[in-house]
Amino acid sequence: MALRTIRTLGDEVLSKKCKEVTEMTPRIKELIQDMFDTMYAEYGVGLAAPQVGILKRIIVMDVTGEDPIVMINPRIVESSGEQIGNEGCLSVPGKTGVVRRPNYVKAVALNEEMQPIEIEGTELLARAICHELEHLEGKLYLERVEGELMNVSDEDEETETEFE
Ligand code: ZN
Repeated sequence: MALRTIRTLGDEVLSKKCKEVTEMTPRIKELIQDMFDTMYAEYGVGLAAPQVGILKRIIVMDVTGEDPIVMINPRIVESSGEQIGNEGCLSVPGKTGVVRRPNYVKAVALNEEMQPIEIEGTELLARAICHELEHLEGKLYLERVEGELMNVSDEDEETETEFE
């Protein structure tokens, strides 16, 4: 198990566009394992490679704690509906804000064996897919926040924030 350092707001790696992965290598397999280790250690539900300083189109997610998903070169092919809820980002520690996202998303990607996969998600998984894909474009959720960005400590205990 190896943890990587999570890059935070102000680090320019977070604002760069990531490159497609063209072949699986032992180094990329190790990166993916480290991304999972780092995400779980930080109690996140998703993590994108640029958040650990690597400009590759790779994301990992696990919104239930029992369903690890790797997506390489992911692309959203369908989305519908709407959800409004609190969102947070491991790269913007201690903050949360209200973000509007589609309630359903279908994405295509490659798995760790570079085989095509299709992932469908609603609610939190749909939100996580949208959030992580934006990291690959060098974008943070901050530009989508409606209203004030809040401190997690100010949050009403009734509202929950997931970190991605
Ligand atoms: Zn994030």
